[in-house]
Amino acid sequence: MHLIKTISYLGLGTMGSGMASNLLKAGYKLTVWNRSAEKSEPFARKGARIAGTPADAARDVDLVMYSLSDDQAVEEVVFGARGILTGIKAGQIAIDMSTVLPATTLRELEAYAKRGVDFFDAPVFGSKNESARAKLWILAAGNKAIFEKVKPVLEHLGQTVHYLGKNGNAAAMKLAGNLIVALELEALAEGLVLAQKAGLDLNTVMEVVKVADFRSPLLVSNGQNILKRDFSTSFALKLMLKDAGLIEKFAKSLRSPVPALRVVQKNLGSAVALGFEKENASAVIKALEKEAGVEVKGR
Ligand code: NAP
Repeated sequence: MHLIKTISYLGLGTMGSGMASNLLKAGYKLTVWNRSAEKSEPFARKGARIAGTPADAARDVDLVMYSLSDDQAVEEVVFGARGILTGIKAGQIAIDMSTVLPATTLRELEAYAKRGVDFFDAPVFGSKNESARAKLWILAAGNKAIFEKVKPVLEHLGQTVHYLGKNGNAAAMKLAGNLIVALELEALAEGLVLAQKAGLDLNTVMEVVKVADFRSPLLVSNGQNILKRDFSTSFALKLMLKDAGLIEKFAKSLRSPVPALRVVQKNLGSAVALGFEKENASAVIKALEKEAGVEVKGR
């Protein structure tokens, strides 16, 4: 089987920039493309080629990967006038690592299949740090035989790679997982505000959250940052709200109930209205703090 040696990475945001750096470190010959050109420059200094358009990026490489904000960005970068589909050829492979609707990944599958291109939906868990440190938890769905070929590449980006079966399944797993993430963040925010209102010492509260049977790395890292009032962006609040919309749409299509998600959506919307959309998703607590008239802070 022909080994993957040349890769293009499109979308050098919080997640894509970490992954593209790790592909360079792993020794792949890398081409990059980003809508705002300045984000490509550090990669050129490290030896990557900069493509002028997505079509140009997609030409003559073994594998095309991308991590873009949302379904609309995928629409433009993949299906657009100078999109990936106008440059990619039979025998190449494409991997969409964005969080998008499973239906979008199935449209991508169909368009790529018409051109003889193999396609995977491969969204990820983990955030800025995990992407930078090649510690992501990666999901992948698509043709099993071709998966064996792309798995070594994905293993350079993450600590686990799970094969989910047919196309669309990884996108579906990502939305199910992010439903849990959204509710965890809301639970953390409500719990900390209640603890603050009760006059508890919040450092001690976090010591308990760290060890108790409901502990999770996500609660610990976000809780500690909230206590430090550090809302610098690893996972933007606006992306959490975007995902909440995707989850709602996906759940509706399957008639699966998501009553708690609606509450989180409302609070995320309030946090956006207060001007916190570019901050980390944990800033959802600010909507509750306003209502409660408190600020959650550590010693
Ligand atoms: P980000 O930092 O906001 O980066 C988004 C990327 O998409 C940028 O490269 C941006 O280009 C590009 N983009 C947006 N709209 C575009 C358009 N219309 N045409 C072309 N390019 C466009 O987001 P991120 O945090 O890296 O997230 C990327 C994806 O991974 C999202 O689907 C997100 O939900 C998912 N995800 C994020 C995390 C996380 O913790 N951050 C974790 C798991 C999954 P510009 O630089 O020009 O704006």
